[in-house]
Amino acid sequence: MSANPVRLQAITDVEAYVPPAPSFSADETPGEIFGMNVFSKSVMQKRLPKSVFKSVMATIENSEILDPLIADAVASAMKDWALEKGATHYAHVFYPLTGFTAEKHDGFFDPVGDGTALAEFAGKTLVQGEPDASSFPNGGLRNTFEARGYTGWDATSPAYILENPNGNTLCIPTVFISMTGEALDHKTPLLRAQQAMAVHAERVLKLFGHDPAAVVSYVGPEQEYFLIDRHFFVARPDLLNSGRTLFGAKPPKGQEFDDHYFGAIPERVLGFMADTERELFKLGIPAKTRHNEVAPGQFEIAPMFEAANVGADHQQLLMTTFKTVARKHGMECLFHEKPFEGVNGSGKHVNFSLGNATEGNLLLPGDTPHDNAQFLVFCAAVIRAVHQYGGLLRASVASASNDHRLGANEAPPAIISIFLGDQLAGVFEQLAKGPATSSKSRGTLQIGVDTLPVLPTDPGDRNRTSPFAFTGNRFEFRAPGSLQSVAGPMTTINAIMAEALDHIATKLETAIELGTELNTAVQELLTELITDHGSVVFNGNGYSDEWQVEAAERGLPNLRTTLDALPELITESSVQLFERYGIFSESEAHSRYEIGLEHYAQSIMVEALSTLEIGQTSVLPAAVRYQTELATNVSALKAAGVEADLDLLEEVSTAIAALRVGIGALRNALHADHGEDALAEATYAQTSLLPAMAEVRAAADSLEAIVADDLWPLPTYQEMLYIL
Ligand code: ADP
Ligand code: MG
Repeated sequence: MSANPVRLQAITDVEAYVPPAPSFSADETPGEIFGMNVFSKSVMQKRLPKSVFKSVMATIENSEILDPLIADAVASAMKDWALEKGATHYAHVFYPLTGFTAEKHDGFFDPVGDGTALAEFAGKTLVQGEPDASSFPNGGLRNTFEARGYTGWDATSPAYILENPNGNTLCIPTVFISMTGEALDHKTPLLRAQQAMAVHAERVLKLFGHDPAAVVSYVGPEQEYFLIDRHFFVARPDLLNSGRTLFGAKPPKGQEFDDHYFGAIPERVLGFMADTERELFKLGIPAKTRHNEVAPGQFEIAPMFEAANVGADHQQLLMTTFKTVARKHGMECLFHEKPFEGVNGSGKHVNFSLGNATEGNLLLPGDTPHDNAQFLVFCAAVIRAVHQYGGLLRASVASASNDHRLGANEAPPAIISIFLGDQLAGVFEQLAKGPATSSKSRGTLQIGVDTLPVLPTDPGDRNRTSPFAFTGNRFEFRAPGSLQSVAGPMTTINAIMAEALDHIATKLETAIELGTELNTAVQELLTELITDHGSVVFNGNGYSDEWQVEAAERGLPNLRTTLDALPELITESSVQLFERYGIFSESEAHSRYEIGLEHYAQSIMVEALSTLEIGQTSVLPAAVRYQTELATNVSALKAAGVEADLDLLEEVSTAIAALRVGIGALRNALHADHGEDALAEATYAQTSLLPAMAEVRAAADSLEAIVADDLWPLPTYQEMLYIL
């Protein structure tokens, strides 16, 4: 009987780990490296002929159609710049519905016939690529014989250099569409939705007397993640396969001491953070805030907000960078929403606002929001949008992994409501009855220490339990999962804002045409909007049981699981919304629904297979070894004429029996017929596989508490969460 070497060796290796030498040089400033690997506006200004530069900027800044004639000039400048930066290859980067980033790499150099090779990169190569689409999810959009897909250059998101010790790559952000123009990615619908929102936001601004510059939606994503030592990671096949632990008893010390949030960052992690930030800076990603999160081993990064499309690309790049840099530091970065059961999960708060170059942030209330009619109109648009399409917002964050987090008293509930804070709630309460005449003002906070300044307080407190909270100059959508692209939620937010702003613009235009004064029309409209949609506003505790009851009375949907939420994508009202604003055709909407179901079923299938394998080949053998050890001990004692206590042997044997039953049931469930279509498979995963996995886990976790430590094969929660 030998001790299990893998886990114990991992502990030894972690202790012996020596972090890499710092990659900083003392005389390097963040300002110098920021954007050094980006084909940015300033690089283009230096390298492009003036007319070409102007034309590209018109596309980037004023959403004008890209002039195809300039592509050759841009491609040539881009190629020269990339070669100077050591690039040997270029890649069209796209965001297929796998949720990951895809890249197709091609070499710059082509043989020219005389035995030499020349760097070639024509405009048409920049503008269009042609990856085989058949290996990416399409949700029934494409017949197998039409495998062709296209990537198309997105000039509004800058190209950049991805460094690799063996040669750099020029990366070009692109959309990914089918041969017939259907969206196969996350970027295309985001661009479409952003465009639709802008049209109607600009109509509203015109009514307020502006000649507005193009309106943009902004996203500031707060990314939570876990770091664990990589020695532990590779000894956990569940983490390797599915990104979360499928086994593991709760550690003796959980997060009950509240001692990790904002705590001192461990030195090793700080080294990692500094290194990631440096890499992000090179890529022009404005990393800003970093801190410990609630759970042990959990952290957060929040880059500065950016235009939604660029922010979404940067967010994907950030995740890739984190994974790579973590490995360099001997750690694994976990983006799963719930890597450890019973421990706080990870989200990705999506901070969102609207604005443009001439008007600034349209969600800025000022000190007296009651007389800031334009702000109130945009705020009321958010209220209408979220009230009408709460189900769709819920669907935009639906995944098997996020189901473990939403509604679990650590993340907002599955009910989508809006938190406005005291000040705004007060203004809208007045508006429900007529004109609003006052706003609760800012106070000051006396600290009681003369040497400290008096701090101004915000007019409203924060509310951490709300899924959609106003936080002073933006809304924060807190339901998105840490693993998700922000493109999905931002597409939905822009789509529903397009509808609300269209509604508002049409009402106001009509009223004004009929001779009503703008102020009166706005006043009446605000009253109407808050009367019709105010029931989505909730300033109380979203974690409470009473809220579940009250929300039901208010008619707000409570879509607990992915399978409850996904059908929202194909309801009549959603399809109408998507079609009217050109975001998805009906068949595209259906394809997203299908892919959501497939993805859900596949993730759970992988977890179920992994549970079976680990239960059968790791946990059960360890338990049986221990059982044998105990049985040998009992017979030895008996032979020596000593009375043997059978309690422990019986306890272990009972747990082993339960584990065997669980494994048998899970195996049967996996072999049974899963159903014909995506819906049947997903339903089967939810109703049969998840409970069967839970049985195996319960038996295994009870064994973890009694089996001899030196025999236990899997790194424990305590080891993974506390040894870094
Ligand atoms: P907190 O944890 O207090 O919510 P953080 O500082 O961690 O706040 O993150 C706030 C995020 O919101 C950052 O990404 C920030 O850039 C972003 N943000 C700030 N202002 C806006 C805005 N007007 N629009 C969108 N995002 C914003
Ligand atoms: Mg934060």
